[in-house]
Amino acid sequence: MKVPLLDLQAQYEQIKEEIQSRVQAVFDSQQFILGPEVERCEAAVASYVGAAYGVGVSSGSDALLISLLTENIGPGDEVITTPYSFFATAGSIVRAGAKPVFVDIKPDTYNLDPQQIEQMITPRTKAIIPVHLFGQLADMERIMDIADRNSLCVIEDAAQAIGSEHAENRAGNIGHYGCFSFFPSKNLSGAGDGGMVTTNDPERAEKLRSLRVHGMTERYHHPYVGANMRFDALQAAVVSVKLKYLDEWTEARQRNADYYNRRFAEEGLAEEPAEGTSGAPDAPGGGRITTPNVKTDRHVFNQYVIRAEQRDALFHHLKENAIGTAIYYPKCLHQQECLQYLEYGSGDFPQSENAAAETLALPVYPELTAEQAEAVVDTVKNFYTAH
Ligand SMILES: *Cc1c(COP(=O)(O)O)cnc(C)c1O
Repeated sequence: MKVPLLDLQAQYEQIKEEIQSRVQAVFDSQQFILGPEVERCEAAVASYVGAAYGVGVSSGSDALLISLLTENIGPGDEVITTPYSFFATAGSIVRAGAKPVFVDIKPDTYNLDPQQIEQMITPRTKAIIPVHLFGQLADMERIMDIADRNSLCVIEDAAQAIGSEHAENRAGNIGHYGCFSFFPSKNLSGAGDGGMVTTNDPERAEKLRSLRVHGMTERYHHPYVGANMRFDALQAAVVSVKLKYLDEWTEARQRNADYYNRRFAEEGLAEEPAEGTSGAPDAPGGGRITTPNVKTDRHVFNQYVIRAEQRDALFHHLKENAIGTAIYYPKCLHQQECLQYLEYGSGDFPQSENAAAETLALPVYPELTAEQAEAVVDTVKNFYTAH
């Protein structure tokens, strides 16, 4: 059975008419840049996140960049973040002219290890960018405490975590800025590129709105140098329709994750994830895989990522059997060619490097059928029976 990693076609089938009529309305209005459809989407996403303001931008990457620019972070400044993320997390810091300073992750959640942050703070440190990887919040209570005590700004990279929640706080509404992406592979997506920044500070919201139109406040008056980082009405229309289904889709993702957890345990493949261990699959008495360790009240499973013994061989086995899989991410950010000037080396962030070598994602998208999910479990099981 063929099981894709993500099936946007199946999602589109459910909402085709609604999307088409809302997109048609944008064409009928001929208002493509910003305007009322964008404003409605900003209000709806901000309210979903619990924030006072939403500022639509051109992508999740630009959401990060524009937040850094709003804080005047640039040359001479340092920003602490994780080396185990999508490139944009560190790329935005470099594009702002600042220096990324990496701190390793916790092996159980794959998110920033707060215990290692404080020793990396210098007088040049201006901000922390925690990433809520795979849909689970970073340890925001401790990160906010460190930030408060050191007067640092916190920019949440919530691209994978819309609706993720802990202690009644949602991703993107805990730090000073929440950065979201509507790239098609995210839980809430448009029909192309798009993103949003959420904040509770009216002054920050105003500057964000200005920077996305070349730093303009009054027409043709530019107190800042910004860029064209606008969100367009067609994307806003699609995102607004999909937002109504997001909770339903998130619950389906959680059910799929629960199903995998249960089935892998029943098959004797997974050990209970142990806190504070690397989840090393060859640990005494261990299973062959480690299922996700959920530490937040609401994990939204943008990805269902397991740590697997013989990861690369399992990856090829899944591919050969038409089971969708991907490695997020095979190479840490401190090991990227363009960041070699930072002078990090292999072994500097062992937990991140282990995760890059040992993890892979399995299909968890909402429309996954019971037969498809069982085919995934069977294919993983067959691999370990033979190896
Ligand atoms: C997708 C993603 C981004 C970037 O979003 P784009 O809309 O693709 O620019 C940034 N950070 C993380 C963690 C992401 O997953």
